[in-house]
Amino acid sequence: MGIRTGSEVLASFRDDREIWIDGERVKDVTTDPRFRGAAQAMADLYDMQHEPELVERMTFVSPKTDDNVSLSYIEPKSIADLERRRVMVKTWMDATCGMFGRSPDFMNIHVTGFASAASEFAKGGDAYGRNIRGYYEHARENDVSMTHTLVNPQVDRSVPVHEQSKDLAAKIVKETDSGVVIRGARMVATLAAYANDLMVMPSNYLQNEEAAKPYAFGFNVPVNTKGLKIVCRPTAVHLNPASEMDYPLSSRFDETDSMIIFDDVLVPWERVFIYRNVEMCNGLYHRTQAMNQIMHQFCTKNLAKAEFMMGLAFALVRTTKIDVHQHVQGMLSELINFTEFVRACIRAAEADAKPTPFGTVAPDAMPLWTVRMMFPKMFVRMCEIVQLMGAGGLVGVPSYAEMKGDLQADVEKYFQAANADSASRIKLFRLAYDAAVSSFSGRQQLYERFYTGDPVRLAGQHYNFYAKDAYIDRIWGMLDNLEARLDAATAQAAPA
Ligand SMILES: Cc1cc2nc3c(=O)[nH]c(=O)nc-3n(C[C@H](O)[C@H](O)[C@H](O)COP(=O)(O)OP(=O)(O)OC[C@H]3O[C@@H](n4cnc5c(N)ncnc54)[C@H](O)[C@@H]3O)c2cc1C
Repeated sequence: MGIRTGSEVLASFRDDREIWIDGERVKDVTTDPRFRGAAQAMADLYDMQHEPELVERMTFVSPKTDDNVSLSYIEPKSIADLERRRVMVKTWMDATCGMFGRSPDFMNIHVTGFASAASEFAKGGDAYGRNIRGYYEHARENDVSMTHTLVNPQVDRSVPVHEQSKDLAAKIVKETDSGVVIRGARMVATLAAYANDLMVMPSNYLQNEEAAKPYAFGFNVPVNTKGLKIVCRPTAVHLNPASEMDYPLSSRFDETDSMIIFDDVLVPWERVFIYRNVEMCNGLYHRTQAMNQIMHQFCTKNLAKAEFMMGLAFALVRTTKIDVHQHVQGMLSELINFTEFVRACIRAAEADAKPTPFGTVAPDAMPLWTVRMMFPKMFVRMCEIVQLMGAGGLVGVPSYAEMKGDLQADVEKYFQAANADSASRIKLFRLAYDAAVSSFSGRQQLYERFYTGDPVRLAGQHYNFYAKDAYIDRIWGMLDNLEARLDAATAQAAPA
């Protein structure tokens, strides 16, 4: 089959999946006003893969079928492969201003990273290695859209999951000849409304005890599996806007977030990747080096996002000519620094890529870790800078619909700026509002803070992974050397 078209993808979302929002079940995400904008954004991304001038950039030939498949499924064997994959990701990310973080390449790269390391999964039993490999090939050949959910619900973070008095986390409750039965909840699943399959993998650290084993699993199921309920947060889409130009981002890129409830969901054995295996769960992303591949994807997303926010600020300041002021130039320089920092880290990670034990090549982790740790603060500051530059103008422009209302003549006259006619000024400032002020922007800021994990615990991991000894040795070497020189000088000065 290979790459799908947008209309095939939209048709695949009409599969009786159980999605809940605002107290009601969603009939069809492709037509419901809370969902249809992002569903169309998904379709547009899939269609891009077929554009004659993009097909080579976005796809590669399947090693199995000779079909064109998404380049996000490539198992990189060289730096050139990493660069090619980055260009593919960047093309999708530029199309969504970096604001659709869970476009399918995110999970495609995720699953590919796991499949390359199938031998690691096989340590829990040969079948699990075969299963992850088999699922990867299925996803690649059928251009499957995936979401994932890794975290147990926020019930009691002061004790391990298996000791919580309210036992709400998803766990294995039964094993049958045909599969494993899962009951309980997981959080968060972004994009679940627009996914075909759900990966349920470990991330919370588990105690190596018998009682923790029911929570120690990894598997995949179609989102329309019986008993699987997707409970979405309220939408960030403005319903019934006078003009879609007023909400250019939120009307298209609200990828949705949800909680997943497993109401005795049967997972067939061939889709089980880890089963009652705490050791396999803990540190999985590190051991498989899948995280290095995933970081390469989301740092590329960050680059697209930084470039977008920088471009937005450049456009904004030109309209009212505030870029003549030095402190404004200082803030623009900050945006340049953020963008070029992310770009440099990605290139460094590619240049210093290393072979993995699995026959693939992974980008060097540390430059990507650095972006991972610093980008949340950078993005929040980018929003702040756009607010400081747009100032009252962000709320001083009307709906774009006013351009065609009874007040048209006044609007055309009074909403101009030195360097922009009223229509340009209104649409640009509405875009800036959506990017830096709106509830969509608030969710983006929250996303950047948490989607790759809790920053507090990530900082601990970052410190623990970092190769510190050479730097410590250098300090002791410098002190020992100085001490030795002082001792020698003292000995020389002493009377014979
Ligand atoms: C917009 C958004 C989209 C997301 N999308 C996805 C997704 O698609 N798939 C997915 O799997 N996950 C997703 N996540 C979830 C994300 O992985 C988690 O938010 C993240 O791992 C943090 O976990 P938590 O939210 O449960 O916070 P908690 O673990 O409950 O932490 C809350 C606060 O308490 C502190 N805290 C709690 N426990 C400890 C501890 N043991 N030690 C130190 N500090 C602690 C934290 O530092 C934090 O400040 C998403 C999150 C957001 C915000």
